[in-house]
Amino acid sequence: MIEIDASVGEGGGQIVRTALTLAMCTGRAVTLRNIRARRSNPGLRAQHLAAVHAAARISSARVEGDKVGSSVLSFEPSGIHPGTYEIDVGTAGSTMLVFQTIFPALACCDAPSRVLLRGGTHNPRAPTFEFVRDAFLPVVARVGFNAQMTLERPGFYPKGGGIVHVTIEPRSAATELVLMERGAIRAITAHALLSRLPDHIAERELNVLQAKLGLRPNACVTEHAEALGPGNVLHVKVEAEHLESVFIGFGMRGVPAEKVAGDLAQEVRRYLDADVAVDPYLADQLLVPLALAAGGSFTTLPLSSHTRTNLSIIQRFIPVTAETDELAPDRWCLKLRVPPRH
Ligand code: ATP
Repeated sequence: MIEIDASVGEGGGQIVRTALTLAMCTGRAVTLRNIRARRSNPGLRAQHLAAVHAAARISSARVEGDKVGSSVLSFEPSGIHPGTYEIDVGTAGSTMLVFQTIFPALACCDAPSRVLLRGGTHNPRAPTFEFVRDAFLPVVARVGFNAQMTLERPGFYPKGGGIVHVTIEPRSAATELVLMERGAIRAITAHALLSRLPDHIAERELNVLQAKLGLRPNACVTEHAEALGPGNVLHVKVEAEHLESVFIGFGMRGVPAEKVAGDLAQEVRRYLDADVAVDPYLADQLLVPLALAAGGSFTTLPLSSHTRTNLSIIQRFIPVTAETDELAPDRWCLKLRVPPRH
């Protein structure tokens, strides 16, 4: 039984999800204490419980403490079962975070799985559907984790109701990731998604991105979707020689469209100026797949608290070593070494 103090470092839901994934993939039981202890709404929330219950289903786990508000969770998996699953987050909570919890485990099986996810697909402070499909999946495919994902309907807070179809393949040979350079920039495009909101929101957002990032009008697209409720999300995709990166801006009631786009442009500009390969969000999300494969090295912006915390949780399950190098103030290199038998 691995015991984890879940209030360390970032102290958020990611600690729970990483522990669930690695408990399943290593076959170890885990107990988490002080879950989200320093958050204003401490303990497990519906979104985290959705990940716990999805993980429990696919691994026939014995679970204790799986209640809203619980600060202690015990999870004892017994094998991982590929198959066809329907997972309903039950609220507008992020389906993408639930997907990232179960994906490495189902990929470690010798048969494919099909998963239908219902809930939020575009949630603030979480990877969106486009981020997972276009930035996360292509990179983890290089180290042996393969999945295809389609969006039937987006789901926004608070109505949710998004629908995503996923096929997860048995993993292929583990390879090391080397992403030190992103290479030449081939294209930068912007995409504004609107549901049940006026067109001028997208127009104003895209005008700001055109001005601040020097995008051509034909590099900017507006898409209308019929979600259950209103929603607006803005993506900028940077297509470079060695990878695609996706940056997200969320339209929020009370926040002018110009500010949403201005903040997003600043984030993209920082990434471009830093001349790194991996954006800071993708950096923390790559660590579990890399630790289960053959490790690797990549350049990124200064390590986030999510990345540092995720590393420390991974080390409780797999004896990986991490080396960081400050190449320039905004250009860091992270090397993850995995012992050969993993
Ligand atoms: P808590 O409510 O306790 O903070 P949580 O379960 O909502 O926890 P975190 O633990 O903060 O979530 O983890 C959020 C995840 O979402 C991280 O992996 C982070 O990289 C990712 N994420 C957040 N914002 C973005 C973004 N703009 N683009 C891509 N990924 C993002």
